[in-house]
Amino acid sequence: MKGRLVVVSGPSGVGKGTVIAEALRRAPDLELATSATTRPRRQEEVDGREYHFLSGPEFERRVEEGAFLEHVSYAGNRYGTLRSEVERRLRAGRDVVLEIEVVGARAIKRQMPEAVLVFIAPPEVADLEARLRGRGTDTEKEIESRLEIARREMEAQAEFDHVIVNDTAERAAAELAALVGPANEDEEHR
Ligand code: 5GP
Repeated sequence: MKGRLVVVSGPSGVGKGTVIAEALRRAPDLELATSATTRPRRQEEVDGREYHFLSGPEFERRVEEGAFLEHVSYAGNRYGTLRSEVERRLRAGRDVVLEIEVVGARAIKRQMPEAVLVFIAPPEVADLEARLRGRGTDTEKEIESRLEIARREMEAQAEFDHVIVNDTAERAAAELAALVGPANEDEEHR
């Protein structure tokens, strides 16, 4: 049995990370793939946990050796999904979740049409700005850049298999976990 690939996307600041963390607690067979990035590590982040933090040249070397399923430039940094985080787990029958932006989600869907694309949407777009500012981790220039991307990302919702509104993280996480949990059992009984 092959595991399922769940790609979670949505604008920066929508709370994807919190929703996924809660969904992982609810769905024990779901595993999160750790992306690689050239973005500087934030203080609370740990290399290998939130991301594999790579230098520019190291990231480029990995691109050239074909280590990425997809990779993008986003707000001045590079981000990519490592094959090594995904393929072995899927073959072993585990469900894998990716937390990536919209361009990467499209690239995954082109290569793996069976991937389930989930868009996490804010109840109100105005909430995004408040969350990005409240987080206090980004510079003004970076916040502006992330908001501009977010406005464009909101328009991509229609391309996704599911849209989950993050009204509360708990409810949104239950909806996300339900996409993998029970359906898997059904397939086995078919
Ligand atoms: P942040 O800098 O806030 O951690 O991430 C910025 C954006 O990059 C977020 O929308 C996040 O989901 C996205 N991202 C993280 N890892 C990847 C990846 O491997 N590929 C792509 N395409 N986007 C990613």
